[in-house]
Amino acid sequence: MIAIDFDNSYARLPQRFYAEVAPTPVPAPRLIRLNTPLATQLGLDPDWLEGPEGVAMLSGNGVPVGAAPIATAYAGHQFGGFSPQLGDGRAILLGELVDRRGRRHDLQLKGAGPTPFSRRGDGRAALGPVLREYLLSEAMAALGIPTTRALAAVLTGEAVRRETLLPGAVLTRVASSHIRIGTFQFFAARGDVEALRLLADHVIARHYPACAGEGRYLALLEAVIAAQAALVAQWMAIGFIHGVMNTDNMSVAGETIDYGPCAFMDAYHPTTVFSSIDEHGRYAFGNQPPIARWNLARFAEALLPLLEDDRDRAVSIAQEALGQFDPQFQAGLVAGFRRKLGLATEEAEDVVLIGSLLETMQHGEADFTLVFRRLSEAAGPPEGAGDCRSLFGNPAEFDAWEFRWRQRLAREPVSAEARQDAMLRVNPLFIPRNHLVEAVIQAAVEGDDLAPFEVLLGVLARPFDAQPGHEDYARPPAAHERVLATFCGT
Ligand code: AMP
Ligand code: MG
Ligand code: MG
Repeated sequence: MIAIDFDNSYARLPQRFYAEVAPTPVPAPRLIRLNTPLATQLGLDPDWLEGPEGVAMLSGNGVPVGAAPIATAYAGHQFGGFSPQLGDGRAILLGELVDRRGRRHDLQLKGAGPTPFSRRGDGRAALGPVLREYLLSEAMAALGIPTTRALAAVLTGEAVRRETLLPGAVLTRVASSHIRIGTFQFFAARGDVEALRLLADHVIARHYPACAGEGRYLALLEAVIAAQAALVAQWMAIGFIHGVMNTDNMSVAGETIDYGPCAFMDAYHPTTVFSSIDEHGRYAFGNQPPIARWNLARFAEALLPLLEDDRDRAVSIAQEALGQFDPQFQAGLVAGFRRKLGLATEEAEDVVLIGSLLETMQHGEADFTLVFRRLSEAAGPPEGAGDCRSLFGNPAEFDAWEFRWRQRLAREPVSAEARQDAMLRVNPLFIPRNHLVEAVIQAAVEGDDLAPFEVLLGVLARPFDAQPGHEDYARPPAAHERVLATFCGT
């Protein structure tokens, strides 16, 4: 096998950070999707990736020279309950690539076979969830939200047993790292302060070099809090529901990671939940900010031994840092919604204007994405183009809100054209709506037809551009198309 210029910094950490494990070969690998621009960005040759050696690597049938395959150890709070050992049960990190701009990326195979962390799982992934993660993560990237990426999807030629037998697949995931809050918890739970220190220093060097030096562990805590606050504010401004915000699914680099039962909201309601395993709505849309803060408190707890020798002192330092989450999140959220509403200046009352639009949307069961898109259309010439009010079941309440918004716009120094341009660049027309995602997965899994997946992926790659002929991809689901539950579908 060809040599790849990996630089495996995580594999150079002590043995107790991971298990060395090679992917398990599959009988009949078939490449069904390659992300060519991403491959090029990573310095990988797309022609090689499509050839026999490349497909062997992407399916786990061959390990390139230079790779150091490992499954990483981590712990985590799942739905509030702590598991001291989770770890990569079906994901294998091949190695790290430094791209042309000097940025480091993990190359990880998800569904590559069992590892010492698999517990009762088979280490495999089914085609449906692989396509789902591919679509959702690439859509998030196109929307400009920090996220892991999808480099490739390969069919294995082997069935996986879930409730039924399903086609098996491997996703190649790219992330700036796969280090989670749960990775820190793994060592904290074992009282392994030396490992905690090594991990924290690794994360600082890799993700937060500005934190290096004296007081670096508090700086790291603050940086991760800021990154998560900014990330969740972006989710809230786009209608994204992660669905499984367990601490093992929260990247310390501040990227969206672990696309399981995640979904985009159609009609706006803060209690919206899709995940079939989230019975109590712990991870409902509107709960995401307090859950992120709760997860960060778990991160702070894990870091306590590094913050200060005196535990009480450490706790009070950590609490002060955690106090920054709410104001930072709120600032990110308000800034995001100001942009969505075309406001270039700041007025104190904007928060009320934003809140009352959301309330009006909730009362009128208005489609979250389309409301902002139609407001963008209505914000520039010709005045009044873009019919927003028909999205509301309560049009009179919307009219009253729109009047206030127009008064507010009149105090903006920006031209209507410039405002509209800016709004059309932050308010997408196309999001991966559940009914669309489910339909393309069904065509692939049941009909072996990947053409609908390709078309949807192409539409979602340009979420802000009107795409003639693809209007249907922008509309909300009709009553009979509505998807009520998404499944983790491991
Ligand atoms: P998740 O719900 O995706 O965050 O996964 C939780 C834990 O279950 C992680 O440790 C995963 O590696 C593990 N896991 C999920 N699916 C499988 C599988 N099919 N085989 C082995 N481990 C799995
Ligand atoms: Mg996970
Ligand atoms: Mg998962």
